[in-house]
Amino acid sequence: MSILAGCGVHRVAFGKELIEFQLRRSDRKTLAITVASDASVTVTAPRRAALNAVVAKVRRRAVWIRRQQGYFQKFLPILPPRRYVSGETHRFLGRQYRLKVVESSEEEVKLKGRFLHVETRRKRDTARVRALVEGWFIKRASVAFERSLSSCLKQFNGHVATAPRLRLRRMRKRWGSCTQDGVIYLNPELVKTAGTCIDYVVTHELCHLVYPHHGREFYQLLQRIMPDWERRKTRLESVAL
Ligand SMILES: [Zn+2]
Repeated sequence: MSILAGCGVHRVAFGKELIEFQLRRSDRKTLAITVASDASVTVTAPRRAALNAVVAKVRRRAVWIRRQQGYFQKFLPILPPRRYVSGETHRFLGRQYRLKVVESSEEEVKLKGRFLHVETRRKRDTARVRALVEGWFIKRASVAFERSLSSCLKQFNGHVATAPRLRLRRMRKRWGSCTQDGVIYLNPELVKTAGTCIDYVVTHELCHLVYPHHGREFYQLLQRIMPDWERRKTRLESVAL
């Protein structure tokens, strides 16, 4: 193996364990380590970085890598990495759907009974199937979140002065957040949970537009607007992010 190339899978001993990582080379000037939601580790290194320097860096970041992996592994039994092939389960609005990929001259994604039905010109092109499915999820998330926002907002009887704007934002550890000028960010993954959980996150963020903290007044307002919020929160927390 050339010390300057070395792309592919490598292992670094860390205590009694081994950290496995995929090494990629790129034109970037610094080295980057990422841990994906399937707990796999990718190291992107400058083309000229020596392999032993890469390995040393991975070893120095081992505690962080393990922590990231531990975080994702908690959810792995619930959320296996998606392969975008027929038969796998995808969650939408709290229900499970089986993916069915069929070859067609048109490209379309729709729900058909308990199936998430994907028509594509390139059935075996899983990257294409993935793009179609993710695009569908994003569109449906926008629709579901807007609907939730307008119904939850009604419960506030003018407590929230200006109509908030909704944005989608992928967040690793949060379902939602907001800014004081009235932008609510929701994690598109939230569309996998039940509508009652979406309403809970939206209501939580709307309460923050009144009280930007988690103090007593915040919870009093939340309790008044959504008396069963704790039940919804528990249900939401049983879902993998
Ligand atoms: Zn909060």
